[in-house]
Amino acid sequence: MNEAEEEWRPGFHRVTSPSNPIVKQLSALSAKKKERDRTGLFLGEGLKLVRDALETGFRVHDFIASAESLQEGAVADTAAAVKGAGGRVLSVSRPVLEKLSRRDNPHSVIGVFEQKLAPRKDIGREGLWIGLDRIRDPGNLGTILRTADAAGVAGVALIGECCDPFSLETVRASMGSFFHVPLATADEAAFLAAAKANSARLLGTHLSATEDFREADYAPPLILVMGNERQGLTDVLATACDGLLRIPMREGADSLNLAVATGLMIYEALKHPQNAATLA
Ligand code: SAM
Repeated sequence: MNEAEEEWRPGFHRVTSPSNPIVKQLSALSAKKKERDRTGLFLGEGLKLVRDALETGFRVHDFIASAESLQEGAVADTAAAVKGAGGRVLSVSRPVLEKLSRRDNPHSVIGVFEQKLAPRKDIGREGLWIGLDRIRDPGNLGTILRTADAAGVAGVALIGECCDPFSLETVRASMGSFFHVPLATADEAAFLAAAKANSARLLGTHLSATEDFREADYAPPLILVMGNERQGLTDVLATACDGLLRIPMREGADSLNLAVATGLMIYEALKHPQNAATLA
């Protein structure tokens, strides 16, 4: 019998060899956007992430854990919850975890989740949203999701051709915030149409803006629009914004990192009492 098919407990499979076909499929999910697009699945690491997924209504397709960790109460309980919800549980070896996480010190738990996006019509519908124009760096995106979650923002819109939000790098950098922030995608025209339909104001950030970001009116519904790491905002987006803001810098300094600039903008916007309602 193929070890992948060997029933360890009903619904639990033991997989120890990195060359097992199941591991090959899962590792393609970890490494290739094409495979994530084809299957509608993605990977994330850590027990907390799997629990967050269950809590927030994301379907957990696979629960992958080392044989040792499956002996621990919390891991075993979560494995049982995943199985109860129709997911598959794989008990794997350390080399399999290393292969899936593409690093030497892997988490002892990995989840495979179904992709889910917020409806485009929700962009800017209420509260404070962040619009990210053609963001390219998965680390920046994960960091922004982490900050957005901490600040209780209503959602993040990815505008145009962005990096894959479902990459392992983005999920990893979000540090568990991934499932807590509604994420929508839209091309430029659809983004602007949704903002207009929801009467959301657009405040863009631009290096050549003259208005200081500390002087702006952040009353919701509001979308803070952040530019691409290299090119900044497109002319179309910059023109569509109700205001363009600048974060002051020392003369001659190039620019702030996108995720840092987004964090500063979010926390400035939270000074408006209507945006701070969710903070503890
Ligand atoms: N070379 C790009 C340019 O000319 O716009 C730099 C882009 S910057 C690295 C990426 C994004 O971070 C910008 O589009 C803007 O949204 C935000 N940003 C960075 N520094 C900023 C600043 N001092 N004021 C306002 N926005 C800033």
